[in-house]
Amino acid sequence: MKSVSAVTFTTQGALRKSALRQANERLVLNAIRENPELSRVEISRITGLSPSSVTFIVKRLAKDKLIKESRVDMANYQVGRPPSILQLASGARFVVGVDITPLGSRVALADWTGTILETRAVEWDPNPEVLLRSLHTVIRALVTSKPAHRVLGVGVAVPGTWDMQARTVTNAVNLGWKDVAVAPMLEKGFDVPLYFDNNANLSALGERWFRSRGARSLENFVFVTLGGGIGTGIIISGNVLHGAFGRAGEFGHMILYPEGRRCLCGNIGCWEEYASDRALTRLYRERTGRAVTEMEVVSCAYKGEPAALECLDEAARCLALGLTSLIIGLNPEAIIVDNWCAAAWDLVEKRLWQVLRDRIPASWLEGVRLMPSAHAANAALFGAIALALTRYFHSFDHSEPHEARNFVQMGG
Ligand SMILES: [Zn+2]
Repeated sequence: MKSVSAVTFTTQGALRKSALRQANERLVLNAIRENPELSRVEISRITGLSPSSVTFIVKRLAKDKLIKESRVDMANYQVGRPPSILQLASGARFVVGVDITPLGSRVALADWTGTILETRAVEWDPNPEVLLRSLHTVIRALVTSKPAHRVLGVGVAVPGTWDMQARTVTNAVNLGWKDVAVAPMLEKGFDVPLYFDNNANLSALGERWFRSRGARSLENFVFVTLGGGIGTGIIISGNVLHGAFGRAGEFGHMILYPEGRRCLCGNIGCWEEYASDRALTRLYRERTGRAVTEMEVVSCAYKGEPAALECLDEAARCLALGLTSLIIGLNPEAIIVDNWCAAAWDLVEKRLWQVLRDRIPASWLEGVRLMPSAHAANAALFGAIALALTRYFHSFDHSEPHEARNFVQMGG
């Protein structure tokens, strides 16, 4: 897969025959991916392709070992031949996901079903050039561990804003990066496409991509990431909201207390100074004199330590105050949280709802769900994997032409 444009279903005019064939194959593969244990008849119904086309495509995909076919249990079928059911063949295709954070980065090799096969850690280095060189070495090792044609792409998550054209991180406050040419440095020397986005956007994408299997897919929701500040990934009508210049979702820097604390961004009273992981650990340090991680605060709270419980309560209150603006302004069906809030879910859920109910008219809260991330500490990593997969399967939020420019493809 070297050309994304070749499978753009929305392309004006006639598609080349090979592109059409590839597009139909992807359509069938995506139907199988989204609906485990699908029969050929169901594929035809879902994709709109004729039964004979589906049979032809399925045969070719099976021959290429991209899908596996099995018969359903005979016991359930008294009359006639039982239909065969189809699944993506695990390990047939691969992607690499990269999650860059100030606490260290991770690079994962996953197959196209989203199963992570190998994860490697890369230590933080304050010099972006040094860090990116180390990351490049690891990415290259994982990409070249598989035959080139079986690696679909590399997805990269960074907690910062991107210049999509220059493929540069323009500002990552928590990394201390300004105008760092991330994509050009990571893409050197191997021939697979490289895609990138903000970590909060990708955390949202990962939830949507992997949660959708077998469950009702979320169309409008906000992923609130609380590690290293607060970022929000906003999915509207199934698409990641990037904004005019790729900077949408920086709700972490909305003002919660105008006369409050100085934020790393230079402004005063930002939401993330009150509800992020660093806000929680600072609260705990101020109350106990002890410097511990946010997960240690959570673990002390589960042991019943009053100071830890009070800090969680206060952080949850401030988190919910910020969420009120998101819920009132965006009308999401769900808010998904990660980091300390997901880890302390049983301790803080009630408090979050209490604040929301106090602050938001009941009719505006109707139908809204709050939930912890399905991916715990791996949300952005799964999102980076999902990004590379979305580009291959060509569905959901990255299929629209106006969004195509927001993603970099390498070696195309
Ligand atoms: Zn700020």
